[in-house]
Amino acid sequence: TALMRSEIHQRARAVLDPLTGLLNREALSDRFEELAEQAAQSDEYVALIACDLDNFKAINDEYGHDRGDAVLKEAAYAMRRDLRSFELIYRMGGEEFLLVLPGADLADGEQLAERVREVVAQERPGGLHVTASMGVAAARGADVEFGPLFKRADRALYLAKNGGRNRVVALNGGPDSPAADLPGWQTTTNNPTGSASTSSIASSRA
Ligand code: GH3
Ligand code: MG
Ligand code: MG
Repeated sequence: TALMRSEIHQRARAVLDPLTGLLNREALSDRFEELAEQAAQSDEYVALIACDLDNFKAINDEYGHDRGDAVLKEAAYAMRRDLRSFELIYRMGGEEFLLVLPGADLADGEQLAERVREVVAQERPGGLHVTASMGVAAARGADVEFGPLFKRADRALYLAKNGGRNRVVALNGGPDSPAADLPGWQTTTNNPTGSASTSSIASSRA
């Protein structure tokens, strides 16, 4: 009936972001709790990728809010297209996204982040040259906990922004890992477009 359809619509709206069609952050916590339980039982890895479009405010300022919306929509679509069905992507708000990767360790997460970064850069969402920065963290088994994992991914994202944007940083170790401040933990590689892409792994045991 129409009433049932409207009820289903209502529920979909509660978990889907209307602009991009991605899952929203309200949908995240229940799903992550399930995942954490499964990871603890099976001693599996879960990786998170915190993703933020670069200099997005300037796109709004130069081309207008509608163009900004088109960029968000097309960038989101390109990222989702690149993922497998069990790899989840959420719009956390604004131009920030979170990828949740069951079964992925830090190296897997970093590899996927690098691919997604390339996809965004090549997509030209909204007809513009747009890049994204990515922060990666991973945990295993009983250590899979949203708070600390997200904090680490977010810190890695911050380092990616600080390192010059359009790059991936992966962070190993606990949230209070001091290693990110130590010299010698960064390696820089050139991506195909010629701009620097820094891929960094810092370990708490370094
Ligand atoms: P950075 O590279 O450091 O991430 O810089 P930035 O400009 O991307 O980051 P900042 O946080 O300064 O700007 C984000 C902008 O995103 C500001 C806000 O107006 C815009 N924004 C947030 N949500 C939306 C939206 O739904 N549509 C559009 N068009 N813009 C949005
Ligand atoms: Mg941004
Ligand atoms: Mg942001």
